[in-house]
Amino acid sequence: MSVVDADALSAETYPRKQMLAPGVFAIVQDDGSWGLSNAGLICADGVSVLVDTLFTERRNRILREMVLESAPGGLNFLVNTHHHGDHVYGNGWFPEATVISHTSTREAVLRMDAGASARRFTTVDFGDSRPTAATITYETCARIHVGDMTVEAFFPGVAHCAGNTALFVPERSVLFAGDLLLKDCTPTFVGGSALGFLPVLEQLRKLDPEFVVPGHGAICSASVIDETERYVQFILELAASGLAEGRTPLQVAQDAQLGEFADWLDSERIVGNIYRAMHELDERTGHGRIDMPAMWRDTEAWLGHPVHSRA
Ligand SMILES: [Zn+2]
Repeated sequence: MSVVDADALSAETYPRKQMLAPGVFAIVQDDGSWGLSNAGLICADGVSVLVDTLFTERRNRILREMVLESAPGGLNFLVNTHHHGDHVYGNGWFPEATVISHTSTREAVLRMDAGASARRFTTVDFGDSRPTAATITYETCARIHVGDMTVEAFFPGVAHCAGNTALFVPERSVLFAGDLLLKDCTPTFVGGSALGFLPVLEQLRKLDPEFVVPGHGAICSASVIDETERYVQFILELAASGLAEGRTPLQVAQDAQLGEFADWLDSERIVGNIYRAMHELDERTGHGRIDMPAMWRDTEAWLGHPVHSRA
């Protein structure tokens, strides 16, 4: 009998396991909005690699069942694409696995305020969060050899956040992008870099993947790279004109016409993105930090209510 209280999760957001190619799976959670992230699984010849874990205890218990279906002996390796709770809170639900991440992701997990998500998303039942930090770290690239496949975990530069990793399986042409790419969902780079995002996208484009597993949203093609690039350019243009006109990030975001991006989920992320882009384009800021409490207040002002997660 399943240990999972399946009835407690809505059918629309229930994790789905999808096979993309022999030995390569995605675990997708619709609709990809706040906290509803995707995971990946690569298995062959008795070796298994999980890409990221999920946000809540219930979802991580379901994820564990899905992993054990394909890796009945237990999981060998778990690679985190970055340190955000919706990608690491379930790490400790795989105690048999070796956790691997970029060095800065490990440091961020060790510094993590595990209660922050529960204060932000007050309607979510997190249960037991287990953000175990990595025991193996890399700065540029790590390769895991899985049967006839190579899982290449690489750091393309700061974009979504410091330490953001993408994983590519060249033998199956599958890219697990973490939150560097989201499908029909607004990217966020308030904790990363707007200017840095563009060369990162260029590196992902060169891989020419057949399948992209975005950090949130449906499995898609490489055209998501072009969509993301247009959004980052859009934000940089808004930020440049906002700076020239001496406006605040909130004013710029409130007056923005979202155009082709209007239907993307979580469009309130425009506020943080403008904060980051204005900060980078403004020569007066030096290497100072963004005022994150002010950014969150402005995000909620833009939205008219607190941010909400369906997780
Ligand atoms: Zn995420």
